[in-house]
Amino acid sequence: MRIDVVSIFPSYFDGLTLSLLGKARDSGILDLNVHDLRDWTHDRHRTVDDTPYGGGAGMVMKPEPWGEALDALTSPPVVERAQRDETQATPTIIFPSPAGEVFTQATARDLAAREHLIFGCGRYEGIDERVFEYAADRGEVRLISLGDYVLNGGEVAVMAMVEAIGRLIPGVVGNPESLVEESHEDGLLEYPSYTKPALWRDREVPPILLSGNHGAIAAWRRDQQLERTRDRRPDLLGG
Ligand code: SAM
Repeated sequence: MRIDVVSIFPSYFDGLTLSLLGKARDSGILDLNVHDLRDWTHDRHRTVDDTPYGGGAGMVMKPEPWGEALDALTSPPVVERAQRDETQATPTIIFPSPAGEVFTQATARDLAAREHLIFGCGRYEGIDERVFEYAADRGEVRLISLGDYVLNGGEVAVMAMVEAIGRLIPGVVGNPESLVEESHEDGLLEYPSYTKPALWRDREVPPILLSGNHGAIAAWRRDQQLERTRDRRPDLLGG
């Protein structure tokens, strides 16, 4: 999979050279490129923002650098939207936004199946709205929120999304079995996990886990998943 990230703070993404995603990049499973939006400016101050039309607080990201970034990252030019051949791989262009659809494990799974993702990190009060319209002619645009709160910029949201998406790409996580039983994969939270020693500071591992009875362990884990989900996230059960 190819991922391009555009940001005015590219060094935020240095962490993506570490751990599983770092290895995936080294092995070529993940072609991840981080770009500085200011490289697509042409003035001495490398300006990316300006005051909002209509007044109001804060600054808005200018459309020109974003237009050039999209031209560069979606080249060769994509066919007009109306004429787009569905079989042709068009990029999915994601703008993190508190006003977007909320990111979930299902979103991560959907995006992990795409060939090319482009993330555009907003800052200030956000990006000039025309950029989203322009981007829609060059790929599928998704505005995605990390949750119902406001961050200073899109970088942290993109880090979280890239990590959640990246670990679902085949080959990134060594044992794919470990993905199957995780929280949110089947609409439930994961069961509790324990490791050695069996007794630690007067606390025992639940005896069922030491029984060797795989059927009983699976049933216990399922019960724990349901109980936890009911207690902590009843909304996931529709309650
Ligand atoms: N004025 C915007 C609003 O009220 O919707 C908020 C702008 S925020 C200070 C700057 C940038 O941070 C946004 O353009 C977006 O890229 C990112 N951002 C902030 N909160 C986010 C969230 N919950 N999820 C994803 N991105 C977020």
